[in-house]
Amino acid sequence: MFLLLNFLFKKKENTKQLKDKDTSTTSRRTKEQIATRKGELGEYKINIQLDQLPKDYCYLSDLFVENPKAKSGYSQIDHLVITPYGIMVIETKNYQGTIYGAKNQKNWLINGKFKMGNPFVQNYGHIQALKSLIDKKYHGLFISIVSFTKRCTFKVDLDYRKISSDELIVYDIELSEFIHRKISAMRTQYKEPLLNEHDILILYNYFAKANITEPKIREQHNKILKSKNTEQATCEACNKPVSEKVKTYCLNNKKFKGKIYCFDHQNNHN
Ligand SMILES: [Zn+2]
Repeated sequence: MFLLLNFLFKKKENTKQLKDKDTSTTSRRTKEQIATRKGELGEYKINIQLDQLPKDYCYLSDLFVENPKAKSGYSQIDHLVITPYGIMVIETKNYQGTIYGAKNQKNWLINGKFKMGNPFVQNYGHIQALKSLIDKKYHGLFISIVSFTKRCTFKVDLDYRKISSDELIVYDIELSEFIHRKISAMRTQYKEPLLNEHDILILYNYFAKANITEPKIREQHNKILKSKNTEQATCEACNKPVSEKVKTYCLNNKKFKGKIYCFDHQNNHN
């Protein structure tokens, strides 16, 4: 399995997106991260989706920018796609289970039990951070997308599935299809593109320039997030939500090295 993944990532490296060298999935990969391979497989699926987009779209992955309004002072954006009709900001989630969520709700539920923050509220924060980097004339162009894996079932506000919405919830395997449908709808609506090639390149350069690649700053941010995170703890291997009791048990047990595992992965986490 690991060898296969390795092969897939190598292949990916050769067909890499624009200039995004320091922050690629591949370069962040270390042997220690094998335990998170399911999460990475999810990321790989997203990358396949992004590769299917037209060549005149630009995209950036794992963008890390300053955000004075965030707790840690930074925002981490999973994927950003700049198209002739809008800037799509994509937040990916690796949860497993039924997702219950409505607009105007601060918290959503997984399987009716575990709380997760409304991902659109989170992504709104990311979009605000991105807006602060670019000219005001581009501020109306943002589209918020949250992508879940197929291990989820949606019980969410149906508006999130309507192509006319600027807040879309999708499965990872339909991401490019949704982006395509969204653009088609906007093309019918506007006729002329809202961004020309030059605008797209300008925006790409602004975002790429603002991207912080310094590993120490990124690590610090993740530490702060972990320490302040009072939300649902999840298994390091499969991302399944675990109870407070399981979380405490794992964190107090040296063999887990500060990581949290569900029952299934406590004996089988390498
Ligand atoms: Zn697990």
